[in-house]
Order: sequence, then C-alpha cells, then structure tokens
Amino acid sequence: MLLDEIILANSFFVHEYGDYLRKLSHRPKKQVAVFTCMDTRLVEFLEPALGIKRGDAQIIKNAGNRIREGCDDAIRSLAAAIFLLGVKEVLVIGHLDCGMSKVDGEALAQRMFEYGIPAEGTKKLDLVKWIGAFTDTEGNITEAVNRIKSHPLIPKAVPVHGLLFCPDNGEVRVVVNGYGEME
Ligand SMILES: [Zn+2]
Repeated sequence: MLLDEIILANSFFVHEYGDYLRKLSHRPKKQVAVFTCMDTRLVEFLEPALGIKRGDAQIIKNAGNRIREGCDDAIRSLAAAIFLLGVKEVLVIGHLDCGMSKVDGEALAQRMFEYGIPAEGTKKLDLVKWIGAFTDTEGNITEAVNRIKSHPLIPKAVPVHGLLFCPDNGEVRVVVNGYGEME
C-alpha cells in the first residue's frame, strides 16, 4: 500500500537525516512567496531551478496556478505570507504543457460519472470553468498577477512578477516584471 511505503520511507529518512537537519525559521529567508501549479514535474525541480532552498520561500500551489474570481484561497495564503511571515515579493509561475490547459469538459464529466458522481450534479455546472481550465498559458499567468495586484487586501508595495517555466529543461522566462509597474 502506498501509505505503508511512505511511512517506511519516512522512517529511513528520519533515521538517516533527522539529526543533520537544522531547525529553520518559518519566515522565508528570501522574503518571497511563489504561487505555482501542482504539476508533478515541478516537484524537486522548480525550486532548485530558481536557486530556492528549504527555508527560503513560501510555496503555494493549486491546479494551474489559477486565481478565479470570487475564489480567493490563494490570495488568503499570500496575505498570510505577506502579513504574518514577512514576504515582500510574489512570483506567479505558470508552466508550459500544463494539464489545466487541455481539459476536455465532456471527458471530465464522463470520468466523474464513472467514479459515481451523479450526472445531474455535473450538468448544472460549467465543469471546465469550475475545474479552472484555461487555453492561454501566458494569459493565465497575467490574470493571476492582476488579480493578486488588484486585490484590496494585498499591499500595492509588493511587486508581483509573472514567470513561465519549462518543466522539461527548467528554463524560466519573465512574462510580467513586477518592478516595471511600481511607482
Ligand atoms: Zn500545471
């Protein structure tokens, strides 16, 4: 079972490294929060590609690094990072080949039905919208940046940058330079 495998891996890890690990502050050393996608290819890849180590940054993830209107859980986490943990800059990082950029609504509804979700429930919703799918990857990054910047509870003095990451070779490209629009 997967859980047993994970618990076993943990006991090896603690035995092997537990004594060597330093206790770190919960305030990020680089004073940065990263809001990115939950994509598995970013695990142990995005942070080293940006020179971010354990203790350096707050990392917030969801499916497709998406901030939808009226659904601001990511904003809540960013506010906690800024006001409680000393974060001074935000990086929104989308990536190429994102699973959320190729969602087939009908296939999704069918899959949910096969899992026992009643069809009446999914028919009432715009599933593609609900799951947060998008077609324009850069547009999705810019939208998240703008939603964060324009949120009334996010201070104007915090630069919000937008980056596009390649999950194959680790390269990033700046889509929005958050300093450019600072006064
Ligand atoms: Zn993704």
